[in-house]
Amino acid sequence: MRVTSDYLPGCYRNFPQEPEESLRGYLLRLAEANGYSGISSLICAATGWKNRRLGLRWRELLVSKDALASVGRMAIGDPEHLLKHYASPIEDGALLVQGRRMDDDAYLDEPAQICPSCLNENQVIHEDWDLASVTVCLRHKAVLLDSCQCCGAPIVWSRSSLMRCDRCGADFRGATPTPASLEEAEVSADFAAIAPFRFIVHGNAVEVTVWDAAFRIFKCLALARRHWTATEFPNVYLRNLSLECRHSVARLLATARNEGAYELSALATRLRRMLAPLTVIPKPLVLEKKALLLLYGEVGLPWSIATAMISTTPVERIAKGYEIFHAHPPALSNLVAVEKFLGVDNATLSGLLRSQNLHLPFADESFDIDDVLNAQRYLQDGLLTLPEQYAIIGVPIQFGEIVQEWFIEPWNRLNGADKRVEVQIFLHMQLQLASKFDESKKIDTTVSLGSIAALTAHPSSTVVRGVMLILNGTIAQFIWAAPYRWSDLQIDEAAVPSIIAGARWT
Ligand SMILES: [Zn+2]
Ligand SMILES: [Zn+2]
Repeated sequence: MRVTSDYLPGCYRNFPQEPEESLRGYLLRLAEANGYSGISSLICAATGWKNRRLGLRWRELLVSKDALASVGRMAIGDPEHLLKHYASPIEDGALLVQGRRMDDDAYLDEPAQICPSCLNENQVIHEDWDLASVTVCLRHKAVLLDSCQCCGAPIVWSRSSLMRCDRCGADFRGATPTPASLEEAEVSADFAAIAPFRFIVHGNAVEVTVWDAAFRIFKCLALARRHWTATEFPNVYLRNLSLECRHSVARLLATARNEGAYELSALATRLRRMLAPLTVIPKPLVLEKKALLLLYGEVGLPWSIATAMISTTPVERIAKGYEIFHAHPPALSNLVAVEKFLGVDNATLSGLLRSQNLHLPFADESFDIDDVLNAQRYLQDGLLTLPEQYAIIGVPIQFGEIVQEWFIEPWNRLNGADKRVEVQIFLHMQLQLASKFDESKKIDTTVSLGSIAALTAHPSSTVVRGVMLILNGTIAQFIWAAPYRWSDLQIDEAAVPSIIAGARWT
């Protein structure tokens, strides 16, 4: 330690930060020893800042060399003592820490976690425990603790004592450690190392990624079903998540870890469960496409990694026209040529143009082959025939009955005989149902929409009415299982009258 006399008054007990000690842990230790009410008041005393929520103060401290120097001077009279913690802010809200991008969500915010065994040996909070993706003590192979063992109060950084619960006064060192498996400890060790990760993708290929990508994968595994159905990757999520939720991700990653690399296909089952209701839609890759909107589009994972996470077989990107036709795409100079290429009638072609699934070229130009291929894909995978619609509803088609009569418009109004409906309409309904679906819900006496419907004169109409009541919140709870047809939705028996009110009986 440097000998210096550059003291700032404020601490009568002075001691340095230990190696590998968490900065917040050190400041709490210092605050407690010097009679401050917590980290925030210690920082305010050193910097002259007015008291504010610790979370905000914390970031300000890390990005200010002056503030870190002041705290170092007050702690041991050395302005450089804490400067290694200096971080520069990046535009997207992350911090650049010692040359690495560290996501704002990578560090726990208000929640704190500890290892009781470590604290029994040495009263120092380890810096690894600050990371949201670390859930196990590497030294003791024990799951960390994020709540008081006596009263259950969360352990938070705004507490006044390093070792004691603010609410009940219990000493955290008295908690009984929960053992973790060696594999779980290795997952935490990988994240604590802040080093690159190795992932095994399709074809047994190994992809080496930066730590940040592994952190994003961890975060994806912690997301709730509502994030998957809404394609939402929240900026702030993991840093406030309970240890239990985060450790369930570590347990899953432990099953995928093999000789230091992570087999991504081992994660697919858990992720697919989030969007499982989409599997009822009888078109290829509906679930995968939706999941990739999040993993590839929002989260920004490489395609090879994103697809390996969600599918056991490779998912091809949509090929471009020049790839399909080897640089010699057919020249489609007029509507007749396009009609012939697509093998459709005039009304369908007009429908494609009207719905903007096909675009007329500028004068003297040919049709854009990629645009025409898009139209072809739309006809193949973007529309559901009547039997396909009924496969989702889950009741047989009755003579003279069509779903559209109630709520769905066919895709092409120019041809009244064409009853096909856009996949998007059913996908939207299915996603809304999925977002309300909670597997942990239990209902004592249930009855399926299918069996209620069978008693009525228009079964499909009854099922649709039940779905509407769920979507508008009239029926708040339901149970659902594969194959996730609408007729498979099980509701409380008490809700049956609201569905069959007005229905005609057979
Ligand atoms: Zn420990
Ligand atoms: Zn307590």
